[in-house]
Amino acid sequence: MTTTMLDRDAIKQKYAEERAKRLRPDGNAQYQRLSGKFEDLSVDPHTPFQERDPVKDHVTFAFIGAGFSGVVVGARLKEAGIHDFRLIDKAGGVGGTWYWNRYPGARCDTAAMIYLPLLEETGYIPTEKYVRGPEIRAHCERIASQYRLHDKALFHTEVKTIEWQEKARVWRITTDRGDDFTAKYLGMGTGPLHIAKLPGIPGIETFAGKSFHTSRWDYDYTGGDAEGAPMDKLADKRVAIIGTGATSIQCIPPLAKSAKQLFVFQRTPSSVDVRGNHPIDPAWFKSMARPGWQKRWMDNFVENTGGGLPSEDLINDGWTEISRRTRQKALKGTPLWLARLVMRLRRRLKRSPAQQEIARMKAAFDEADFEMMEQIRARVDAVVEDQNTAQKLKAWYARLCKRPCFSDEYLPAFNSPNTTLVDTDGKGVERIDETGLVANGKHYEVECIIYASGFEYGANFQLKTGFDLKGRGGKMLSEHWGNGLRTLHGIHVYGFPNLFAVQMNQAANYALNIPHNIVDHAETIAQVIKHAEAAGFAEVEPTRESEGAWVNLILTTGPSLIASPDCTPGFWNNEGQGWSKEFRQSQGHPGGPKAFFDHMNEWRADGDFKGLHFAK
Ligand code: NDP
Repeated sequence: MTTTMLDRDAIKQKYAEERAKRLRPDGNAQYQRLSGKFEDLSVDPHTPFQERDPVKDHVTFAFIGAGFSGVVVGARLKEAGIHDFRLIDKAGGVGGTWYWNRYPGARCDTAAMIYLPLLEETGYIPTEKYVRGPEIRAHCERIASQYRLHDKALFHTEVKTIEWQEKARVWRITTDRGDDFTAKYLGMGTGPLHIAKLPGIPGIETFAGKSFHTSRWDYDYTGGDAEGAPMDKLADKRVAIIGTGATSIQCIPPLAKSAKQLFVFQRTPSSVDVRGNHPIDPAWFKSMARPGWQKRWMDNFVENTGGGLPSEDLINDGWTEISRRTRQKALKGTPLWLARLVMRLRRRLKRSPAQQEIARMKAAFDEADFEMMEQIRARVDAVVEDQNTAQKLKAWYARLCKRPCFSDEYLPAFNSPNTTLVDTDGKGVERIDETGLVANGKHYEVECIIYASGFEYGANFQLKTGFDLKGRGGKMLSEHWGNGLRTLHGIHVYGFPNLFAVQMNQAANYALNIPHNIVDHAETIAQVIKHAEAAGFAEVEPTRESEGAWVNLILTTGPSLIASPDCTPGFWNNEGQGWSKEFRQSQGHPGGPKAFFDHMNEWRADGDFKGLHFAK
């Protein structure tokens, strides 16, 4: 399908109008936390709390966060000979986001072949191209068991204080369980999406029925389970769900099957493309899985989604399609071999693409994007029977403005007579009272409200984690990062010796396969620690200069297609509040994720740990 110039102008105009409807001055401040009066909503419904004695000991490496970051770093450190490793997490077990998010229908939108880390090391064969939540959590457990990461782990434990002890050259850590221990090295993988947020709807606290956030799904109330058993206890219930992001897209189909009546309150529709899932054939997997295959697949995905000119697309899905179409438009018939040659020469000469070329890529992206979004909107018309509902489910923004979604069940759910879309035309739910919700001036009486309202992304480090770090000379991390994030490679922080962060910011930000960044960081951390231990160093820390140079490099990153300030507001683009210096400083490598991984491969291969200072 092609869009005419006239169509494009009209569509651009529509995008701008829809964006304007949604801009609000309070940005991130519109949301509230599951604390204070909402404390009850934050209780862990998955694992009973167990009393235990406080821990007072010393470990070589303590890691805060037992999600993918914690288990992968733990695995790599164990391989490097560090056996004295401790995970700490406020959850009741490993899994991170997959521990908390057990809502019905939870599934990863990234292909399991690249999303599930350490498939080669564990020998695990994913069951499907896109696996379900329980399978992902089980994989975290598999890694933790294989590498004996449960041994010293502290679960249902929140860190309170962390302080660098100048004399002993160790980190001292205290927790809400009375623990008080030390660690030579400290890691943090606290995740970008771990603080659930509630919408700031007036009257939200007055609702007398049942309510919960999707990350604390209450199966005792709904019946059913995370494995997909029907939620039989909802058969006589009117249920409201607020939000239509990636989580909602997945849990609405099972809710539509179970609830007596389901009201979906929508502020902004998601773009929902074809899922195209299929089982993984173990025979095919075994024939394909030669040593080093997973790194090759991860690299291939980054090349296909990150501006490379790859000769093959191993993943071949909705994510790589966005780039494939952009490439086709940009190449305009230029043979691939010639384009590759130019790219290689440019790299060799360390020349970044000229402004002209960047503008050409942007135009190609826009053209491809218009076509894809038109297809996605046409799909809504083809699937949703009620034409008024179909109109309201169409997304009017560029695809990478909001998290693209994929589902073959979401749109058909609106054909169920018990499921009603309550579109609020960008305004959101007006009010909540004792018996239900008000939107567009109409009251909807319900017994249950489910908040699919997402997670804090924009908040600063201390607000997100609930702790601060006191580094060398008593300097707080909040002070060091007061004017924006400062790291070398997103990992090391000047003034905070033996500290290792695992995060996307100042690294492979916006990589569409988040575990790739984690696996890469884990490799770096293991290599640094192995070197420090072998040579008998007591401390490792980036120099002030290397950290400063890295921050300056990050600040050259321009607004990407993903977080463009022209996009409709959302957590990817700072709720449309523009790019402050602080926001720019939390971006990734200016060349994108692939450039970051290339840089790290070279940095590690050099083996001289450029930018780090080791001290005996
Ligand atoms: P999101 O932040 O994406 O969605 C929150 C939803 O709540 C939005 O639709 C938002 O509308 C809506 N909302 C907020 N306030 C109001 C209000 N006052 N009235 C009505 N609606 C409101 O959260 P999700 O949990 O859906 O997803 C978060 C992220 O988690 C995803 O982007 C993705 O990165 C990850 N995820 C990944 C999955 C995977 O497959 N790997 C699956 C699920 C989630 P608006 O858009 O207007 O702000």
